Amino acid sequence: MPQKIDFSDPLLDASDSKVGIAVVGCGYVGLVAAVCFAEIGHTVICVDNDATKIGELQAGRIPIHENHLAELLRTQKPDALRFTTSLADAVRASEAIFVAVGTPPLENGDADLSYVESVAAEIARSVNGYKVIVEKSTVPVYTSDWVGRVLRRNGVDRGQVDVVSNPEFLREGTAVVDFLHPDRIVVGTASNRAFSVLSRIYRPLTDGSYYRRAGSVPGSCSEAQPAPILRTSAKSAELIKHASNAFLAMKISFINLVANVCESVDADIEEVSQGMGMDRRIGSRFLSAGLGYGGSCFPKDIKAFRAISEQLGLDFTLLKEVERINNRQQTLFLKKVRSALWNLRGKRLAVLGLAFKGGTDDIRESPAISLVRSFLAEGCIVSGYDPAAMERAAATLNSPNLSMAESAYEALDRADALVILTEWPEFAQLDLDEVKRRLAHPIVFDGRNLFDCADMARRGFTYVSVGRPPADECAEMVAIARRA
Ligand code: NAD
Repeated sequence: MPQKIDFSDPLLDASDSKVGIAVVGCGYVGLVAAVCFAEIGHTVICVDNDATKIGELQAGRIPIHENHLAELLRTQKPDALRFTTSLADAVRASEAIFVAVGTPPLENGDADLSYVESVAAEIARSVNGYKVIVEKSTVPVYTSDWVGRVLRRNGVDRGQVDVVSNPEFLREGTAVVDFLHPDRIVVGTASNRAFSVLSRIYRPLTDGSYYRRAGSVPGSCSEAQPAPILRTSAKSAELIKHASNAFLAMKISFINLVANVCESVDADIEEVSQGMGMDRRIGSRFLSAGLGYGGSCFPKDIKAFRAISEQLGLDFTLLKEVERINNRQQTLFLKKVRSALWNLRGKRLAVLGLAFKGGTDDIRESPAISLVRSFLAEGCIVSGYDPAAMERAAATLNSPNLSMAESAYEALDRADALVILTEWPEFAQLDLDEVKRRLAHPIVFDGRNLFDCADMARRGFTYVSVGRPPADECAEMVAIARRA
């Protein structure tokens, strides 16, 4: 059950509602957390060892694309939020230190925790009073024990610090709203003192006072229905994060597998997932068939969860299957493009969407990037467009056969086919008559099911999507490719 906080508890001194917070790592999570903590009234120092990034932030420039972030950053008072490369200064000035550095995958699937360890060792050198060290990064079970050990090995006494697991569930693209309107705030700790610090930090969200404030960012929580807080052990909190991501990835792979069944029997995955999602036990979210999951979290978290399970002697082959289905989804889509266009060498493709999903400029593990790489390897000439991710994509793909367009329409000019790889809402709003006018041939491969099949057929498009019967003359070729 979510914890009901007793604010009359002397540990939760209401007069001391402002907490000095350091956030280590100014990436997608750290920067959003830092800005949001300042937004709900705390004094925040955000630290990164990337001096260029800190320079940009100090100049008021935001290195990532995320809704609301620029406005919130602009409206913070200078003493509420500052940026620095000095972890030591930030630790000394703060009561709670949130660690939000990367935890990328190692070759064997384990999470690379070396950034977390080096930050813990550095924090230890600057501890000047009681501190709560908060794991915000996604880490495997037992990490909080290890962080405690590292602190002690570097001379910090047991009573001087508590290590808390407070996993982050925000989604890129809606990160600010997710942070300020969380489904739950999980705080994993055995220490009442540490829990009281975290309760004070999140209090404006858990007592609803933030939501009644004029100008607060709107979302699903309200004064009447504030954010729930769940207190658990540190190990449970670490597992909640890994298990949640693994479950969501499994849901995506499941619906993609069902989409393949639909293609084999000429059923429509959109109808099937709508019917499934209306069951409240299942729910409609994460039931969209497409090109599979990507991004900096799901692929690495699934690998890390499987790795730690195997180290514990447990057989989690279910997750291996989730990964296998996910990888196959891109191969199947590539086969469809190949089969409907016959030869790919020399074909001009208009590609809409490069980010791993709509609403972000993040291209880490983006299915779109890996598909564009395959198109280029097969000799295609690609004209790409993405509302936020073009700069990163061009630098990563770095090919003379890839150009970036000024607009979605410009990307289409004289292309042999349109390929949609990311579900940006604006792509679904395209004027389809204009699309047809600009393309050399009215062929659309839609990896995100943005359009209605019957409408596309009526308009004269050859339309190939996911889990729905392909319209028109290429249907037979696509069916053969799927079976191959
Ligand atoms: P990121 O790569 O965008 O940011 C990490 C930042 O940490 C970088 O700016 C890097 O320069 C900085 N850093 C690394 N070592 C440092 C050090 N020693 N001192 C100071 N700064 C240092 O990563 P991210 O996407 O923000 O993810 C961070 C963590 O949060 C990961 O564990 C991730 O799994 C987890 N997470 C991410 C998301 C998401 O949507 N991106 C959501 C929930 C959880």
